[in-house]
Amino acid sequence: MADAESTVTVAAATLQTLIADIFAAAGCGREEAERIGRYLLSANLAGHDSHGVIRTPRYVQWLQEGKVRAGQALTVVNDGPVHATLDGNWGFGQTIGPLAVDLGIAKAREAGVSVIALRHSGHLGRIGDWAERAAEAGLASIHFVNVEGGELVAPFGGVDRRFSTNPVCIGIPGDDAAPMLLLDFATSLVAEGKVLVASNGGKPVPQGALVRPDGRFTDDPAALYGPLVPSAPRDPAMGEGALVAFGLHKGSGLAFMCEMLAGVLTGGGTSGPIPGGKRGRISNGMMSIYLDPAKFSGADFHARARAYADYVKASRPVTPGGEVLVPGEPEARMRAARLAHGVPLQAQTWTAICATARSLGVAVPAP
Ligand code: NAD
Repeated sequence: MADAESTVTVAAATLQTLIADIFAAAGCGREEAERIGRYLLSANLAGHDSHGVIRTPRYVQWLQEGKVRAGQALTVVNDGPVHATLDGNWGFGQTIGPLAVDLGIAKAREAGVSVIALRHSGHLGRIGDWAERAAEAGLASIHFVNVEGGELVAPFGGVDRRFSTNPVCIGIPGDDAAPMLLLDFATSLVAEGKVLVASNGGKPVPQGALVRPDGRFTDDPAALYGPLVPSAPRDPAMGEGALVAFGLHKGSGLAFMCEMLAGVLTGGGTSGPIPGGKRGRISNGMMSIYLDPAKFSGADFHARARAYADYVKASRPVTPGGEVLVPGEPEARMRAARLAHGVPLQAQTWTAICATARSLGVAVPAP
């Protein structure tokens, strides 16, 4: 059902099946295709549309160009009782991600802690999915992520791009009585997907989210994509400006350390020009730490975590009728709403997904 001229609302189950059918037709095994559908939908359900089904046409193109590979498994480069270095062989992040997380969970259950260095994974999408997987197994987790081959963000004080949008994610497990807490954000002031939406006439990004090549701050998406031609595809390689890191030197420093931990320490690659003709191929590196609360804290861990979250929420709101939310709360609310009422997509996003489906001979359901 179209609920606004520029928006199409699709039932979650319908959308997930369509995305799975597309990837199955594109050459993935059925199991992998369903997993990709499930995780892309999961980002939309959490409200992070920039990392959801909007990625389908680009992922299919990458598969067809050999930039991401179907049916890959992890290669263990080296490992020990509490650590492993893993190579994702440019497999789909939706396949490589859960394999890497499950190894981290297994090791942390034995030792109380584990550290998993993952290199050369296809796009890992919404990193919160991986902290949620660990939390479902009862573990806290910390994830630092970079993008080899991606270059979008200027360092603090600079104009030229040196980082990607390098996300950081921390998950704290809940139990039946305590909700899980999930902090999951890009280290750029806004995600690239939000600039993309603004470039198509959607919600503008804040002034100062981008920097022009002459050093002036701006909200103009042309800084990232070059001159904007209506309805032409947007390519961040065409812009001469950059995204700006959040929080001045602090966010920029965090993005820098994501490159060090997820790009250099994993043995993968950093943001920057890629030698050897791999231009256009991106991969995620991810340094993850898993912690078993039972090995560090008392049996009252969940009760104390809940009590503190309640104390934070009880801070008086700055606006009358306002509310303090804890990390993960906006996503949980959005998930409940979208499961009940469907997933709104920009009409342009839905059209692009349908075009990809038809090009592969997949029937498109009525939204
Ligand atoms: P964002 O700016 O929307 O921030 C989200 C975080 O802030 C969440 O933890 C959320 O619970 C919390 N939050 C939001 N509003 C809040 C409020 N009012 N009170 C308290 N907490 C609140 O996220 P983003 O930077 O746009 O990132 C979006 C997604 O993009 C993330 O899931 C991230 O993992 C993903 N990402 C992935 C890559 C990649 O290479 N795979 C790169 C960049 C970003």
